[in-house]
Amino acid sequence: MCYIVRDTTTYRASWPNPAPQEDPLATFNVHFSAGLTASGIAATSVMLVGLATAHQMVVYFLLGIVGSLLPDVDSKSSAPVHVTFALLSTLLAFVAMFYLANAFTSVAELLLVWLATYLVFRWFVFFLFNRLTDHRGLFHSLPAAALAIVTTAAVAHRLLDLSALDAWMTGCFVGLGYLVHLLLDELYSVHLFGMRHRRSLGTALKVYRKGHPVATLSLYLAIVGTLLTTPDPTPFVQTVVDPKVRTEFQNRFLPSEGWFRPRPTSGLTAEQGLRQPPLSET
Ligand SMILES: [Zn+2]
Repeated sequence: MCYIVRDTTTYRASWPNPAPQEDPLATFNVHFSAGLTASGIAATSVMLVGLATAHQMVVYFLLGIVGSLLPDVDSKSSAPVHVTFALLSTLLAFVAMFYLANAFTSVAELLLVWLATYLVFRWFVFFLFNRLTDHRGLFHSLPAAALAIVTTAAVAHRLLDLSALDAWMTGCFVGLGYLVHLLLDELYSVHLFGMRHRRSLGTALKVYRKGHPVATLSLYLAIVGTLLTTPDPTPFVQTVVDPKVRTEFQNRFLPSEGWFRPRPTSGLTAEQGLRQPPLSET
C-alpha cells in the first residue's frame, strides 16, 4: 500500500501496478526507493575510489535520499510531504545546532536551538510553502535542482566548515537525489508500461515555468546569489576529472581476483589516496 500525490489530493494505489486513474505521479515509496538505490550506489562508488571515508559515505547516502524527496515539498496536505518536511526540518535543526556548538556550550542551550529551528521549519516555513507554492511548480525543475546543489554546498562550507571538496560533494549528492526524483516523475508521465503520454509530461524536467516569469527569474537569481557564497569548486572539479579516479573506478568495477574473494590490501583509502595529492583545498 502506498500513497500517490496528485495535486492537492491523496489517494491510495498499489505498486507496481498503479491504479488506472488519469495522470498518476510516482509515489512517495517509489521516490524513496529510487533515491535510496541511486544514492547507495553512488556513495559506495565514491568510497571505493577513495573520494570518501566510510563515515562520509553514510552521510552522502542519507543526503541523496533527502534530495530524492525534496521536490515534493510543494505538495499539499499529504502524508509524504509531512514526512519530507519533518526530515528536512530535523536535518536543518542539526545544522543549526552544530553551527552554534562553539557559541553555546551547554547541552540544554543546544537542545533549545535544535527545537526552535525544528519548530520554525516544521510549522512556519511549512505553512509558507503550502500557501506560496503549487505542486509540480518550480520545485519540479532543473534550476531548482541546481539551487538545491549550491545551497547545500554553501551551507556545508559556511555553516559546517566542510572543505570545498566535501561541500560540493554533499551538494552533488543532494542534486543526484533531486534529479532522480525529477527523472522518475517524467518517466511516470510517459507511462513506461503503456507508453501513453500523460498531461504531466514535461512538468518535472523543465528549465522555466510557463506563465510565471517573475518566479522563474527569482529562482535563477537565487542560484546566482547563492553561488557567490559557495566555496571554490576547483578542488572538486579537479578531483572528479582526475584520470586516477576513472582508472580506480574501472579497476574496482569488477573483481580482479575472482568473485567474493577479500583483497589482502584495501588499496587507496580516502586518507591516503586520491583526495589529497593534487588538491589545495580552500
Ligand atoms: Zn514529484
